[in-house]
Amino acid sequence: MRGANSYLGSVGTTIFTVMSALATEHGSINLGQGFPDTDGPADVLQAAADALKDGRNQYAPMPGVPELRQAVAAANKRFYDLDIDWATEVTVTSGATEAVTASLMAVLDPGDEVVLIEPLFDTYVPVVRLLGAIPRIVRLAPPHWDLPYAELAAAFGPRTKAILFNSPMNPNGKVFNAEELGFIADLVIRHDTYAICDEVYEHLTFDGAKHIPLMTLPGMRDRTMRIGSAGKTFSLTGWKIGYVTAGAALTPFVQRAHQNLTFATAPNLQRAVAFGLAKDGGYFASVAGDLQARRDQLAEGLAGVGLAVLPTKGTYFITTDFSGLGFDGDDVAFCRYITEQAGVTAIPLSAFYEEKGAPRHYARFAFCKRPEVLAEAVERLKRHFVIGGSR
Ligand code: GLN
Repeated sequence: MRGANSYLGSVGTTIFTVMSALATEHGSINLGQGFPDTDGPADVLQAAADALKDGRNQYAPMPGVPELRQAVAAANKRFYDLDIDWATEVTVTSGATEAVTASLMAVLDPGDEVVLIEPLFDTYVPVVRLLGAIPRIVRLAPPHWDLPYAELAAAFGPRTKAILFNSPMNPNGKVFNAEELGFIADLVIRHDTYAICDEVYEHLTFDGAKHIPLMTLPGMRDRTMRIGSAGKTFSLTGWKIGYVTAGAALTPFVQRAHQNLTFATAPNLQRAVAFGLAKDGGYFASVAGDLQARRDQLAEGLAGVGLAVLPTKGTYFITTDFSGLGFDGDDVAFCRYITEQAGVTAIPLSAFYEEKGAPRHYARFAFCKRPEVLAEAVERLKRHFVIGGSR
C-alpha cells in the first residue's frame, strides 16, 4: 500500500503519553505529564453539572458560547486592561493545543517561516511542518534561559510570517520580562509579522513575577493571537477548553481554522468556565500561591536527593540537572530508569528540542500534585539514590 502522510511517519507518540503509560505500567508516581491530581474548584464543577441538565447539549455556536466569550473579554480587561470586543475578537477552542494549531493555520501559507523558541512544546514544530511552513528555531540556554537578542533578530527575515512562543514557559518556568517582550514586539512590527502567544500558564506565576501579555505592548494589539486555557487556570486539564483573543481582522481567520478542526466545543463546560473566569481575585491568587508552596516543597526535596534544581518562576514544572547523581545515560534513559527503579516519573528535557545538540542531562518534574504525593515521590528517590546508595 502507498505510504500515508510522510511527515507523520517520522513523528513518534508524544512524550507525555509515553511517560504516563510507563508510569501506569510501573505504578510510578507520575510527575511527568503536567496535570493536577485534584479537581478544580467545586463551584465551577457544580456550574458544569447544572449546565448539563438545562437542555443545552446540542452544538455550541462555532465561535464559542456568548457567556464564555464575554467572560474572556472581561478577563482581558480585568487582568491586563485590554479592551476586547467579545463578539468579534474571541474564539473558544477545544483546548489550547487546538488554539495554537488554529492560530498557526490562521496566518501561515506553505513556505512561510515561523520563529520558534526552544525548548518548545511538542506540538509546535509538527503543526508548522504539516502546514508546509518552515520552523526557524532560536535556542535558550540553561540555567538562566535568557533571550539571545542577536540570534532572535537574525531568525527574522523576508519570509517570516509569525513568531510562536510560550510565556510563562513550559518546561523551564521562564517568565518573559518587559524588555524581552519589547524586543520581540519591535521585531514583529519591523518585519510586519504576527505573534502567536501561548499564555496558558498566565495565572501560574511565582515570587511576584508578573505575566505580561505581548498583546498589551504598543503596536501589538492587532498582530497578536493570545491563547489562554481553562485547564491550567482552573486545574481542569481534561476539559480541553481554550480561548484565542485576537483583533477583529484576524479573528475570522482563527474561526475558519477552528470550524475546520473541531467546529465547536462542549457548551456546558464552556458555561462553567465563564462562571470560573468571573471568580474573585482571591481565587487566582490562591492557585498561584498553592503552586508556589508546592514548587518550594519539590525543589527542596529534589535538591536533597542530589539533583541541581533550576529556578522556575511559573508553570507546573521544575527543571533539574541530574549530572550529580552519576547516572550513566541520557535524559530519556534517566526518566525511564527512575520510573522503573525508583517509582517516580519525569519528562526528559530533550523532548522539548527539535534540533540537534539538545542538552541530555535535564529532567522535568511536575509539582502540581498534593503535598503528600510530592513527599512520597521525594522519599522514593531518596531511598533509591541516597539511602540505597545507587548514586
Ligand atoms: N502541557 C502538558 C505538559 O507539558 C501536557 C499536555 C499534553 O499532554 N498534551 O506536561
